[in-house]
Amino acid sequence: MISSNLNLEPLANIRQDDIEYGLVRTAAGVRLAILAPREWAGLAEFDGEVTQQGQQSLLIGPLSSTNAASLRLRLTWLMPKLLGLRTSAGLGDRLGLATPGHIRAIRGTNGRIAPIFAQQSMREMARTGRTPQQVMDDAMWGIFSEGWQAGFGADADHLKTTEDIDVCLAAGFTFFTIDPGAHVDNRAEIASLSELRELAASLPDEVQPACSGLGGKTISIEELEIALSEAVLLKAAVKYGRAIAHVADMYRHLSQAAGTRSFELEVSVDETEQPTSHAEHVYIASELKRLGVNWVSLAPRYVGRFEKGVDYIGDLAAFEQDFGGHVAIANHYGPYKLSLHSGSDKFSIYPIAGRLSHGLVHLKTAGTSYLEALRTIASVEVDLFREIYSFARERYETDKTSYHVSAQLGRAPLPEAVTEWPGLLDQFDAREILHVTFGSVLTEKDSDGQKRFRDRIFAVLNANAEAYAANLEKHFSRHLRPFTGLASE
Ligand SMILES: [Zn+2]
Repeated sequence: MISSNLNLEPLANIRQDDIEYGLVRTAAGVRLAILAPREWAGLAEFDGEVTQQGQQSLLIGPLSSTNAASLRLRLTWLMPKLLGLRTSAGLGDRLGLATPGHIRAIRGTNGRIAPIFAQQSMREMARTGRTPQQVMDDAMWGIFSEGWQAGFGADADHLKTTEDIDVCLAAGFTFFTIDPGAHVDNRAEIASLSELRELAASLPDEVQPACSGLGGKTISIEELEIALSEAVLLKAAVKYGRAIAHVADMYRHLSQAAGTRSFELEVSVDETEQPTSHAEHVYIASELKRLGVNWVSLAPRYVGRFEKGVDYIGDLAAFEQDFGGHVAIANHYGPYKLSLHSGSDKFSIYPIAGRLSHGLVHLKTAGTSYLEALRTIASVEVDLFREIYSFARERYETDKTSYHVSAQLGRAPLPEAVTEWPGLLDQFDAREILHVTFGSVLTEKDSDGQKRFRDRIFAVLNANAEAYAANLEKHFSRHLRPFTGLASE
């Protein structure tokens, strides 16, 4: 046993083929421990210090990328897998410490929800100073520590260029979310018919509206009757044509670069200004199919507002009507899953999405795990949290620009007025302010060049790992239950 050899309580301990793999907490932090028969040559694949103990060798090594890669080859359940059309949830993690809590919430769904534990957009990786490999490795160490052997996906989120694809493919990601939002042309929303004709004429050849075969057709899908008049088709083509050509390019690049490796694709147009109409969804799906793209999920821009870290803002009946139509179209052209981006904390729409999708749904969350980290800090290190909040207020007007948020500084409590700090995480404006400033908080340096908050945040979370995991479990159980088909609370 590793524990008796080391006199340390293992955080994880897996035995396979006479070899024990574990994690131990040492004075210097958490380390990989491997106990193997003395003659085992495989130990050379790992970094660390080896000591001989009778007939056995004991290695203590860092949680490095080399050790992560070697461990994956030995324990194949540490490698991401395809999730197919199973109901799924993406649990992004900006700090890299949330996976144990995520796993506990997923365990509570009794296998009804397939998890994605490694998930980060290129934008968020840039803001947190992490590489795709670090995102993948951090999730893996969490999976190893919890002994989660039931499989998981790895989502390279919001990819915009072929370089993004290459770096994420190299890091072992299996699920690729292509975001062609920069190629969506919102001029279509206000253009006249003659302007639409002119704009359409300049589209790339492969997405000329005449090629779509949709002109003048009425598509009947369940109760939907979608008439693709010239104006409707031209508007869809002008708005999304270049985006579709871009997705097709990205897909071809990915297919070629992946070679024999299999992967899954999501197409997301959620971060655009205007909702995706049912006719536009028909156009997108029909055109992607025509161009040979295979995808497992699609994130339209739904009606209403999906702001970061807060509940849905909009009319629930309108959402139900909108979402129901998208479900019918996804069944008709797929089936594929509908993806809910900025999906955290949208408690009022989960029951609707869970019921109407019949399980063909992917819920994507990311920043809310960071907020639960702050909640954990607020309950054990008030001074640090107060400092983070004051700093976040200073950063908010600058940092909010690339996010959908409506918080106003004037409506968020002043630091000196707060009496109950964990409760601040439940105040709408403070929540959004804290949500969008994570990058600044994690990268801010003080006058002597040291990270101002980062190391203290990690120290508190590492010292209170159980409390953090418990907060995450509670928070995500509430997210996941409406999608399990199990009785609600
Ligand atoms: Zn998104």
